[in-house]
Amino acid sequence: MTKHIFVTGGVVSSLGKGLTSASIGMLLERRGLSVRMQKLDPYINVDPGTMSPYQHGEVYVLDDGSETDLDLGHYERFTHSPLTRHSNYTTGQIYLSVIEKERRGEFLGKTVQVIPHITNEIKSVIRQLRDESVDVIITEIGGTVGDIESQPFMEAIRQFALDVGKENCLYIHLTLVPYLKAAGELKTKPTQHSVGLLRQIGIQPDILICRSERAIPREDREKIGLFCNVEIDSVIEERDKDFSIYEVPLSLVENRLDELIVRKLRLSADELQLDDWRELLHRLRYPDHEISIAVVGKYAQHKDAYKSIYESLDHAGIHHRAQVRVGRIQSEDIEREGPQRLLAGYDGILVPGGFGERGIEGKIEAIRFARERGIPFFGICLGMQCAAIEFARNVVGLEGAHSTEFSKDTPHPVICLLDDQRNITHKGGTMRLGKQACLLEDNSHARAGYGGERIEERHRHRYEFNNVYRQQFAAHGMKFSGLSPDGKLVEIIELADHPWFLAVQFHPEFKSKPTAAHPLFAGFVEAAIERHASRGQPAEPV
Ligand code: GLN
Repeated sequence: MTKHIFVTGGVVSSLGKGLTSASIGMLLERRGLSVRMQKLDPYINVDPGTMSPYQHGEVYVLDDGSETDLDLGHYERFTHSPLTRHSNYTTGQIYLSVIEKERRGEFLGKTVQVIPHITNEIKSVIRQLRDESVDVIITEIGGTVGDIESQPFMEAIRQFALDVGKENCLYIHLTLVPYLKAAGELKTKPTQHSVGLLRQIGIQPDILICRSERAIPREDREKIGLFCNVEIDSVIEERDKDFSIYEVPLSLVENRLDELIVRKLRLSADELQLDDWRELLHRLRYPDHEISIAVVGKYAQHKDAYKSIYESLDHAGIHHRAQVRVGRIQSEDIEREGPQRLLAGYDGILVPGGFGERGIEGKIEAIRFARERGIPFFGICLGMQCAAIEFARNVVGLEGAHSTEFSKDTPHPVICLLDDQRNITHKGGTMRLGKQACLLEDNSHARAGYGGERIEERHRHRYEFNNVYRQQFAAHGMKFSGLSPDGKLVEIIELADHPWFLAVQFHPEFKSKPTAAHPLFAGFVEAAIERHASRGQPAEPV
């Protein structure tokens, strides 16, 4: 019998509900249970694919090509839950599906309403993950209790317990217990109000997880328990973790959250197994090396815009026992100040994916700087396209070379629209998306890193390398070390006469895990460690 855990949040947003949900999933898996993760987002967009990184941070792409919330990245990094388009729904998707049913006449003349039609649709997307082999489904509700948009979702998860039995459902509510400096006290009132809102909807939380910058004394937990109608042992403290997000599961274990869930849901679980996770944290805490990597992008100031890339750099650091310090550089600043001042101290330069022209020339300059000085370079998606443009202009001698995304009438369109994209006008979900195969060439960094000939990686782009220029590029030392199986699409480029210069059309950052670094990130960080050692001077992020 599949059990359900619903995770809601209150008081403020950005409490780390995604991380907490992922940590819960991980702890249950590490007690031998099979877990499925799911996120329901109350906003109206059908998916986050059309949203700006300023609004939403990174768009996380799954194997099946769905463009999802970045919390799904936490789910994949912390658990083995298979994720598909059924793992992330929004209000937009729910309404779209109900409206399409209405147009098909499926409601037989009835008035279509939020209750029951929208709530039924929400319940059905939760229910569809149930399966004999699945012990627990963890459904995280985005937003904060009290938001207008989240009401149908709250109502649906309330009803869910009526449908499958209260004993099969567990409601976990994440709140904030702020510390007021002036009063010198932790304040429990916001938590009381937040739970009050939940109880108005008819949801009595079973477990409260309280984020706090300080230890919450027993008497405060008792007070919260009393006012919120929750047993004191079910009021769990989740202290801020300054060092690493990978500490979160361990701090929840210290507060016996796994035990509590297993008991409350009457699950039959094994002993908790966390040795490799503890080892990972040990490596993070006691590194042998320290390097610095510059990530040069349009949204470098936004902490979530390249989330999976920052995480993947950490994973590679864990793999090589290196502390990776990341300098986030706005590519426009390079246009103003030049690469020397902003990039000279770094052991490696990474240019991530992106859209739009702003900051493009800065990225191209950063790549030239890395290429000419033998600094390890890793380009991802738009980063690869910029590397091709830079090479065309400065090595092959194709003046004015560009991508047709930015210059429709460039004399040398070295990056151009994919054939399949030429007639597409709709923006949502229409790029080349998701898992695609790629064949690797012998004697390349790519092949050495992956250790095999065929790989599969996730994509999200409309433009590609223009094959008209392949021969010319090759004649000047560019290696096409990864191609689509039909040989038509360039997926990886490398330079032979450079310590490590590699760029990919796909997004390797979506497949890296803390316990299994992605081979290309591992290769890049290894090259940066070598460069750092050969320079023999401390890295000073600018
Ligand atoms: N804008 C480029 C394209 O559409 C790159 C996309 C990306 O970096 N994800 O091809």
